Amino acid sequence: MHKIIDGKAIAAALRASLKPEVAALAARGVRPGLAVILAGDDPASRVYVRNKVRACEDTGVRSELHALPGDVAEGVLLDRIAELNRDRTVHGVLVQLPLPAHIAVERVLAALAPEKDVDGFHHENLGALLAGRPGLVPCTPAGVMHILEHEGVRLAGRHAVVVGRSNIVGKPLALLLLQNDATVTICHSKTAQLAEITRQANVLVAAVGRANLIGPEMVKPGACVIDVGINRLPDGSLAGDVDFGRVKDVAGRITPVPGGVGPMTVAMLIANTVRAATRALERT
Ligand code: NAD
Repeated sequence: MHKIIDGKAIAAALRASLKPEVAALAARGVRPGLAVILAGDDPASRVYVRNKVRACEDTGVRSELHALPGDVAEGVLLDRIAELNRDRTVHGVLVQLPLPAHIAVERVLAALAPEKDVDGFHHENLGALLAGRPGLVPCTPAGVMHILEHEGVRLAGRHAVVVGRSNIVGKPLALLLLQNDATVTICHSKTAQLAEITRQANVLVAAVGRANLIGPEMVKPGACVIDVGINRLPDGSLAGDVDFGRVKDVAGRITPVPGGVGPMTVAMLIANTVRAATRALERT
């Protein structure tokens, strides 16, 4: 059986499932609020931010966009974060990456209040994930896990191979797969014999940023293949890291790009914002 996973539909269902929680918050006078900080005018970042803001409106979450010039001083950005950390109507703060080169991303992420860090990139949230404690989980890895759960993909005792070791996707995803009892291998740019390893995967996740890196000869027949990559091709179209046209006939299940992991990332951001609002109310 070959199945193309409909990430858009799974994301829409997840967003719809948040509505009762949003309504329960409204009944207590709280509207979840997300602040998105965008520094500079990277075109891809603009598209991502627009999608995030739109998804908020659909789900009854208030959003505010803080657009700062590309040459903004780091201190100004940090002051804005401090203000948003104090603002009781804002439950989630997201800094769209990448930041302009003169700004130290580590300092910026560390300045976020961990309980408002809806991207889950603050070291306190990453540490909570490592220790298996509840925190805010990075959206793309959480979205991948939601897809696997929705599709009924068994993980316990099975081999999951993650290609890519970034702090944003590869590493946190490997931890989540491990928490779900998979046997996990992380591959990266220095991995030797990549194809030999990926061919062993029951679940194969590509999070690299190289179009067509994963060909059909690298995939075990029947495997579940999740493509996180987003690559802009010379003709302007989008492609994942997986050679979708050829791998779809080998894989048991596969996510397309676009329409796979991307919409899930946005839905998880909304879920994290609603969760942050609920937790803020519980603390008062
Ligand atoms: P990154 O550049 O930080 O990390 C890429 C990783 O790929 C590195 O760990 C590197 O070791 C590994 N790598 C590079 N070349 C390799 C090779 N030839 N073989 C094996 N591994 C190799 O990227 P990232 O932020 O983790 O993002 C990865 C991709 O996922 C990008 O295309 C990005 O646009 C996309 N992305 C998508 C979403 C989404 O919502 N769908 C979210 C975040 C990132």
